[in-house]
Amino acid sequence: MIYDSTCIACPHCDVVYRLSAARMVTRTRCLRCGYQLTLGKSEAIARVVGLALTSTILMGIVLFAPFLHLNAGPFASSASVADVVLGFATGIMMPLAFAVLIFIIVVPVARSLLLIYALAPLLTGHANASGAQSSLRWAFVLKPWAMAEIFMVGVAVALVKIGGMATVHTGTAFWAFVLLVVVNTFQDTFMCRNTLWTSLATNTT
Ligand SMILES: [Zn+2]
Repeated sequence: MIYDSTCIACPHCDVVYRLSAARMVTRTRCLRCGYQLTLGKSEAIARVVGLALTSTILMGIVLFAPFLHLNAGPFASSASVADVVLGFATGIMMPLAFAVLIFIIVVPVARSLLLIYALAPLLTGHANASGAQSSLRWAFVLKPWAMAEIFMVGVAVALVKIGGMATVHTGTAFWAFVLLVVVNTFQDTFMCRNTLWTSLATNTT
C-alpha cells in the first residue's frame, strides 16, 4: 500500500484507511476501535469558528479587565494584563515585554482571526474569501507560537511566591484567561485538519 495524503491512520489502534475527498468531509469512525477519525464537515467548521470567536472575545476581556488585586497592609493595587506588559516595557526588560506581547496576545489573536476569515464563508454558504487557503495554512503554522498557557504557568508560580507577602485576589481577567486556555486546548484537540482543508478546497459556491 502506498501512503499519501488520502490516507488517515487511527491514532488509537494504528489501522490505516484510505478516504476519498468526499468521505473526508463526512463523519467517520475507526472500524476496529470506534475512534472518531474525521468530524462531519459542517460540524468541524462550526466548532472551529465558534471556538475562535470565543477565544477572541475572551482575549479582549483578558487584556483590559483587572487581572489581579493585591493587598499588603495599607497598600492595594490592581493590574490588568495590559498594565503588566507595559510595566515591563522599559530599558533591559523591553525585549521581554515585546515577547510577551507577541506570543501571549498577538499570535493567539491572529490565529483566531485567520481561522474565522478562512472558514466563516463556508459556514454561511459563501465562496472562499481571497487568500482563504493561505490564511488557514498560516493559522496552522502559527500554532506552536501561540503560548497563552505558558503565561498561565508563570502566573501560577508568581502567585505562589507573592502569596506569602500579600493578599492576592483574582480578577475577572484571570478567570477569562483560565477559560481561554481551556478553549484553546479544546480547539486543538478537535481541529480536524483533513476536514478543514478538504472543505476549503472543494468549496465551489
Ligand atoms: Zn482505531
